[in-house]
Parts: sequence; C-alpha cells; structure tokens
Amino acid sequence: MSKERVIIVGSGISGCMAALRLMQDYDVTIITKGQKEESNSMLAQGGVAAAVSKSDTPKKHFSDTFQAGCFHNKVRAVNQLVTCGPVVIQKLMEEGMTFDEKDGELSLGLEGAHRLPRILHIGGDQTGKFLTTFLQEKLTNINWQEQQMAIELIKQNDVAIGVHCLDMENQLHTYYGEHIILASGGLGQLFPVTTNAATISGDGLALAYRAGAKLTDMEFIQFHPTLLFLNGRCHGLISEAVRGEGATLVRTDGSAVMTNIHPMADLAPRDVVAATLFEEIETGNDIFLDIDAVAHFEERFPAITASLDAHQVPFRETKRIPVHPGAHFLMGGIRTDLHGKTNVPGLYAIGEVANAGVHGANRLASNSLLETLVFGEKVAEYIRTQETKPQNNPAIPLTSHAKAPHLPDKQLLQEKIWETLGITRKPEKITEFLHWIAAFDYANHTREAAEISHMLITAKLIAESALKRTESLGAHRILKGVMK
Ligand SMILES: Cc1cc2nc3c(=O)[nH]c(=O)nc-3n(C[C@H](O)[C@H](O)[C@H](O)COP(=O)(O)OP(=O)(O)OC[C@H]3O[C@@H](n4cnc5c(N)ncnc54)[C@H](O)[C@@H]3O)c2cc1C
Repeated sequence: MSKERVIIVGSGISGCMAALRLMQDYDVTIITKGQKEESNSMLAQGGVAAAVSKSDTPKKHFSDTFQAGCFHNKVRAVNQLVTCGPVVIQKLMEEGMTFDEKDGELSLGLEGAHRLPRILHIGGDQTGKFLTTFLQEKLTNINWQEQQMAIELIKQNDVAIGVHCLDMENQLHTYYGEHIILASGGLGQLFPVTTNAATISGDGLALAYRAGAKLTDMEFIQFHPTLLFLNGRCHGLISEAVRGEGATLVRTDGSAVMTNIHPMADLAPRDVVAATLFEEIETGNDIFLDIDAVAHFEERFPAITASLDAHQVPFRETKRIPVHPGAHFLMGGIRTDLHGKTNVPGLYAIGEVANAGVHGANRLASNSLLETLVFGEKVAEYIRTQETKPQNNPAIPLTSHAKAPHLPDKQLLQEKIWETLGITRKPEKITEFLHWIAAFDYANHTREAAEISHMLITAKLIAESALKRTESLGAHRILKGVMK
C-alpha cells in the first residue's frame, strides 16, 4: 500500500525536525525556496534555551518566558515548550547531537531577560548551522525539492491538499499530499534592515491567509538591537550572547547607553534595548558594542569574528563594533494548536511562521530554536495519530492573475514598511500606508511578483493588527500624537 504523503514547505529546523520524525513511515517531500542551507535556522548564533542545569527548572523558564512576553503568551503553549524542551534536547543528544561543554558539563550561556544561564550552544556561536546540518544529514529518506518557491496552497472541499510552486525559471510544479506543513519561517525581508536570510519574506503567512487560515498577533515583531552596521548598511547579527559575556552599548564618547534605562541594563529585554538605540540614532548618535570586557572573544565567537574580519572591522584595536537595530523575529503568525494544527483541515504550521502562543508580545532570547524542535516533534506526533488514505488528486490549476500587474518596487515597499511598521508606529501613518498598498494588485506568475505580493499581504496584516492594538505592548510600540 502506498504511504501517506507529507509536504513540508521550508528546510529550516522546524521542517527538518518534523521530517526526521516522519520519514520512516511517510512519503515526505521538503520544498524549499533556495538551497536547503538557506534559512534563518542556519544563521542562529546564540543557541537553544532549555532548563537543563541543576539550578534551573521548567518553572523558572516558564516564568522568564511569560515575563518577556508581557503575559500575552498562552499558558499551555509555554508549558509545553519548557517541559518538552529538555526532553527533546536529551533525545537529540542520544541521537548524536553534541552541545558545547566546559569541564565535562554542558556550557550554558546567559542572554537578555533570562534569570540564569540556560542557553545551550554549539561551535561557540554557530548553533543554528550545526543543528540544521545535523538534522539534514539524518534525512536520508526524503524527497528534496530545492529552489521551488511555494506560491499557492491548493484546497479541495476546504481541505488543504497541495502546493503550487515556481522554479528558478518560473515554471510551475505542483505537489499533492494528505498533510501540508508550513515551516516557512518569518518575515524579516519585509524590512530594509534585518538579520534574516534572503528567502524569509513572509511567503508562508500570505499563502496561509489566502487559503483561509487565521493569523494572530501580527503586530508583534521583534527588532534585534545589534546588527553589524557599516556605511549605512546592516551585515548580519551580533548575538546578544556577546552582551551576556560582558559587552556594553556605548556612544562615540564611550558613555554607556543602557545605564538608568532598565534594571537589567545591557541585558534588558530586546524591545527596550532596540527602542533605546533607535531613539539615540534618531538624535544623531552612533552606537557601538564595547567588547573590552569580553574574555576570549575570538574563541567564544568564531563566526562573529570571521564576519568582522570579512568586513574589515578593526575590533581588535578599537574593541568596538558599530551596531544598529533591525527586524529579527515574528512573534505572531498562523494560529495553531499545540500540535501545529491550523483552522484549515490538512494544513499545519510550525516554527516561526506559526503562532501557538509561545512568545506572547515579545520572545525570550533563544526560545525560538526550542520552539522549532518541540513543535517539529509535536506535529509529527499528531500526524501519526491520523488515518488518512492516500488520495488520487484531480489536477487543480493555479488561480490565474493578471500578467501585467501593478506592483510596487521592492526596495520602496521595504522602506515604507520600516517607516510605518518599524520599531515605533504612528496610527495616522499606518492608515496612510494601508491606503497606499490598496492600490496594488496580487500576482504570482513570476517568483518576483509572488514575493512582492506576499510582502504586500503580510504588511497589510501587520498594519491592520497594529491599528487594532491601540496601546503599546511588548514589541509593539505605538506613538500617539500629531503626525510628522
Ligand atoms: C541571524 C539570526 C540569529 C538567530 N539566533 C537565534 C538564536 O540564537 N536562538 C534562537 O532560538 N533563535 C534565533 N534566531 C531565530 C531562529 O533562528 C528562527 O526563529 C528559527 O530558526 C526559525 O526556524 P524555522 O524552521 O521556523 O524557519 P527558517 O529556519 O527561517 O526556515 C524557513 C524555510 O522556509 C523556506 N521558505 C520560505 N518561503 C518559502 C516559499 N515560499 N517556498 C518554499 N520555501 C520557502 C526558507 O527558504 C527556509 O528554508 C535567529 C535568527 C536570525 C535571523
């Protein structure tokens, strides 16, 4: 008898984790927009948060997660994350995953808003790369479809049954399955300054929305305070773990930025640090990370060191790294239950594209890799309980759209999104933006048109949610008053 088919959109940790737990008994296809190595998962530096030390407990991790999330998180989702987290990590270690150790014990880092060190890391600051590679190497029984961009979900009788994709030559390919899992990550590329990989532009969110899935908390976007900033451009992330090891944020004259702003100073929650830096930059100050107090910087942060060298930053002499805040992580997304199920039968969402309620209004650092692992397991666990017969699907064509659509220039759209939906937001500007985007059409006859269309849909969802939340909460900072 033929196996049930599982189609996974996205080759990051969440998609790979689900695939690993399903590949023995299911016919699993992973579709991914670029090469399989292109994802935010590959870029993750700091590590995975989990209560694994003797002095830690899931209860403490729960309370830190809730506090960072401004109590907007869902109790059951956080509970699942912090209690299943250590179990999932233990299982991975038994399967051969090794985390950094010191004196025979797991070496645990400290990051912002965590009350104690609980960040497992690999290769110093290369956790995401090692973890993704470890999982991908285990995927021996998978149908990989690289450079296929999902552009439309297919439904029959209200059930999700497949995905239409475009290859690099804009040729259409269609994949059918009994279970469709969106693991397509967040939306950083909506913004001109971001830590995110080039393929992460909100596609999965727009696909799900068009298929009738419910999305929630779209206004909550985390801006990371410290992106490497040179000649007006950002060049990737300088992990928060650098501040965890003693670095401080300073102005050109060496004065500390975070003193008297928050009791946790440089390790205050990300929204506080990002908003403070944004204000400083708006008033004309340049901001630097002073790494003088970080012991063995190059050993502890080899990937950051390589990036600084590649960009010829003279950090060894100056002990300074120029930084700027930028878009980093989406807390909201496609609403799911604790197993990644959406309101559309047959459609699941896991990882950053999903909103199970883990992060609330602001994510606690390093909780997202844990989420990808835990929810990757959970969706597989649920699918295994289902008895769905493999179907002979009728060929369902792509919805046709105008071949010469009216779409904005991508760079202009990114700039407008940064001005309107960036670190601070003004209701009048958001309303103006919604009028501006209403003039454009949707199109998906080329990858480029589909991507811009997805960005428009995703930006509209953020703008509408931001207008509805009239008070600031967590990462959503709304400014009231006269429009400038
Ligand atoms: C620089 C950086 C550092 C980070 N550091 C940490 C950290 O230390 N700890 C932590 O917990 N979190 C960290 N994060 C966040 C974390 O990496 C992500 O939230 C997490 O990896 C998301 O995993 P995912 O599997 O959901 O999605 P991703 O890893 O983003 O993968 C999404 C996949 O979907 C594919 N895709 C997208 N659209 C389409 C489409 N239309 N068709 C087909 N494929 C598509 C992408 O190409 C990609 O393969 C960091 C993020 C960044 C950017």
